[in-house]
Amino acid sequence: MTTSLKIDNPAASPASRHNTIGVRIGEGPGSVIVGGDAPIVVQSMTNTDTADVEGTVAQIAALARSGSEIVRITVDRDEAAVAVPRIKEKLLRMGVTTPIVGDFHYIGHKLLADHPECARALDKYRINPGNVGFKDKKDRQFSAIVEQAIKHGKAVRIGANWGSLDQDLLTGMMDENARLPRPLDARAVTREALVRSAIWSAERAEEIGLPRDRIILSAKVSAVQDLIAVYRTLAERSNHALHLGLTEAGMGSKGIVASSAAMGILLQEGIGDTIRVSLTPEPGGDRTIEVTVAQELLQTMGFRTFVPLVAACPGCGRTTSTVFQELARDIQNHIRDEMPGWKVRYPGVENLNVAVMGCIVNGPGESKHADIGISLPGTGEVPVAPVFIDGKKAMTLRGPSIAGDFKVIVSDYIEKRFGRAG
Ligand code: SF4
Repeated sequence: MTTSLKIDNPAASPASRHNTIGVRIGEGPGSVIVGGDAPIVVQSMTNTDTADVEGTVAQIAALARSGSEIVRITVDRDEAAVAVPRIKEKLLRMGVTTPIVGDFHYIGHKLLADHPECARALDKYRINPGNVGFKDKKDRQFSAIVEQAIKHGKAVRIGANWGSLDQDLLTGMMDENARLPRPLDARAVTREALVRSAIWSAERAEEIGLPRDRIILSAKVSAVQDLIAVYRTLAERSNHALHLGLTEAGMGSKGIVASSAAMGILLQEGIGDTIRVSLTPEPGGDRTIEVTVAQELLQTMGFRTFVPLVAACPGCGRTTSTVFQELARDIQNHIRDEMPGWKVRYPGVENLNVAVMGCIVNGPGESKHADIGISLPGTGEVPVAPVFIDGKKAMTLRGPSIAGDFKVIVSDYIEKRFGRAG
């Protein structure tokens, strides 16, 4: 008897990228393009006092080392503006060429005018149209920042935010809405106000003379469904490059889940040219986690590759000990720690897939799908760990040194496959 197999389940793939105008940020080796055909860029923000030159340099360098392609710093007062060129100079001396963005609120026009070296040192200015100035000062102060950007040849992000929305605009729209026979709900009006604030400010910047290929837009909110709605509208109405991020995402798993859910949907729809994951770190916690999460979001969705990924099963009652969790963690950490050197020595290593599995049920199968995988012994199994390389069983490890032996096997595999001579 013959059977015919009909398969009709193609893998999901993202919609083609929303058509945006590319914006170059920075000059020289560290410069990046946001938008157009460029890969989606990962960015982050420091939480140091910018006036603290040493602390800010150290954090920018750490963020850049972990893979942040743009780093934003707050420029909130004269001392911070004075520190900016010193920060930039020190970074360049350390070989850190990552573009630096100045985040301005309320007095950006004054700080940029009073501190031309700061204006020159920064690679991009972020303007929040909701707090650039109030009443008759608004346009004057907004124009002053845009003129500085034109004068120094810098890009600008017009970053509207739900928490600091232009109150004149919102009040006017709420009044207009109240007069409608069937008023919309207040949340919908607020979303519309946010989109208009970003787009109108961009139009005004272009009127003043800043070209479109130097303007990036964002309109951040803190709720997942609102973010999706706002960015879909922004993408429909504009071809400006878009900076994507959920503001005030929160701490730990909540922040990661909310950011990934919101941005994942938008990225799948082709919306977003640069992303930031706004995680609240634990007190004294590691700021670079937001970069890792952003990279993992892009990599697990198949948009970019940054570091080899480790697939690990969740473990269950068949997992005999903590050896399996420890090995999965050690291998992932080992890979992340080694990546800066590996990137140079082993081009393409970021595409490697490693699997660490807890028992025989899915272990050999999943390990065969990876480039290199190990299936550890589960409860009641013979205490041996088969290793699979390129889909074939290559060896069996046993004894107390399984973890160490596997790390050596991974390193040898990388050397053979990705080494320049290989
Ligand atoms: S592979 Fe084995 S240990 Fe891991 S979750 Fe599945 S059954 Fe449990």
